[in-house]
Amino acid sequence: MKYNEVQNFINGAFKSGSTTKTHSVISPLDGGELSNFKESSMDDLNEIVIAAQKAQKAWQKVTLKERVQVLYRYRQLLEKNSVELTEIIYQENGKIHSEAKAEIDKAIELTEFACSLPQFVNGENMEVSKGVYCSSTRHPLGVVASIAPFNFPSMVPHWTLVNAIALGNAMILKPSELVPISSQYIAKLLKEAGLPDGLFNIINGTQSTVENICDHPDIKAVTFVGSTKVAKIVYQRASNNLKQVLALGGAKNHIILLPDAHPDMASSNIVASMSGCAGQRCMAAATLIAVGNCDAILDKLVGDALKIQCGTTLGAVISKASKERIENYITEAEEQGAKIILDGRNTVVPGKENGFYVGPTIIDHATADMRVAKEEIFGPVLTIVRVKTIDEALAIENANPYGNACSVFTQSGGLANYVTENASAGMCGVNIGVPVPREPFGFGGWNESRFGSGDITGKSSIIFFTKEKKTTTKWNQEAGVNWMS
Ligand code: NAD
Repeated sequence: MKYNEVQNFINGAFKSGSTTKTHSVISPLDGGELSNFKESSMDDLNEIVIAAQKAQKAWQKVTLKERVQVLYRYRQLLEKNSVELTEIIYQENGKIHSEAKAEIDKAIELTEFACSLPQFVNGENMEVSKGVYCSSTRHPLGVVASIAPFNFPSMVPHWTLVNAIALGNAMILKPSELVPISSQYIAKLLKEAGLPDGLFNIINGTQSTVENICDHPDIKAVTFVGSTKVAKIVYQRASNNLKQVLALGGAKNHIILLPDAHPDMASSNIVASMSGCAGQRCMAAATLIAVGNCDAILDKLVGDALKIQCGTTLGAVISKASKERIENYITEAEEQGAKIILDGRNTVVPGKENGFYVGPTIIDHATADMRVAKEEIFGPVLTIVRVKTIDEALAIENANPYGNACSVFTQSGGLANYVTENASAGMCGVNIGVPVPREPFGFGGWNESRFGSGDITGKSSIIFFTKEKKTTTKWNQEAGVNWMS
């Protein structure tokens, strides 16, 4: 499979990046080159920002109700083109078709939420003292930018682009250099839906392009989704340049398993969570803390994980380096005395021998201080730590620097409440392996999983992508002016 050169999208037209530095886009399915692109320069970004500023000035005069009409049409185009869009995600990211299709379904859902924004964006008005009225209205920021990770080539860009545009901004997307092809099609479909040129733009590149975005004086706000290490860099650099920033980072999500959990429900949800998207989800189950004797449930869980078929029900990981990193984590845990009860190392998928596959892996009897229990592995690996009490489990969860998600599996409402109240995570689940809040709730973690305030989706995005104006009004309320005399 080969795709055309990936290009920047500037003012409604595709154009190559202007530096001579070329990057290959490698398919995780077979290690072959799918496409390539040229790194962008500051001049490329300037050209985009100038066009985006011009387009945004006209767009902010269009009412919100009219603006979302484009997104209604775009939503239909996403549905119509979902087979092609799904195939691109499969090719560039390596996740299986059903997971790739789920990303398009989620992009549709996010677009539907953006279409509903006229119901949510409402200011306030009250008489603050006799005859004096104060009202608030919300206004677009101008040109904004989003920097995306590799693990959701379509869903993560949709977290921000549809709301930002609906709310009257112009968007510049910097896709992950590992999966930049999906965004090319997003641009084509937005144009086909009738979005005026300059309101959605793409700049391709790596670190230097992100730095240019953080430094550009006319980009008013930046969202970032990716690793914690880079989230901190982007948050600091863009804030230092006086931008509004929301930077979402990595995760190490805990599952607290209680012995009274429903065995089938717990097992199937936890296995789907640790292995879905090959464990490359910021919401993936990573460390399972088994409280007391959970052996029967854990046996079932291993049985369910054994049914996973690499290459069929489990996709590839993103790169050769990623595969090696994941396998090194497993080896280190083994050397430190943990038990590898399901070993995904050295997995070869017949017919896809050059693909980057790691089989489902379960590491039992790990201790909380091992790296496999503490650090983000970002692969289909579940680490089990055994403890005696819920408070011990919560102490491990609370001590972890991340704070994206935490789920508890139990049939006791009281114990579930105790865990969700005391977990140090922004998104909690009860008998749910991937506790992603759906719109209008917002997506966002705590601690080192998020820098900045508010969430990246849902109603929070209204606050992020607009600024509030307060107008205080006083009228002479004397009645009786006779205009006819
Ligand atoms: P990454 O941090 O390596 O890259 C993300 C983006 O930052 C890319 O566009 C990349 O080009 C850019 N980048 C990379 N290094 C940079 C640097 N030194 N300076 C400036 N920019 C740089 O992340 P990734 O590997 O693409 O994605 C996986 C990570 O994303 C995981 O840690 C995962 O947990 C996280 N993630 C978090 C969420 C969330 O909502 N919290 C969602 C999805 C993914």
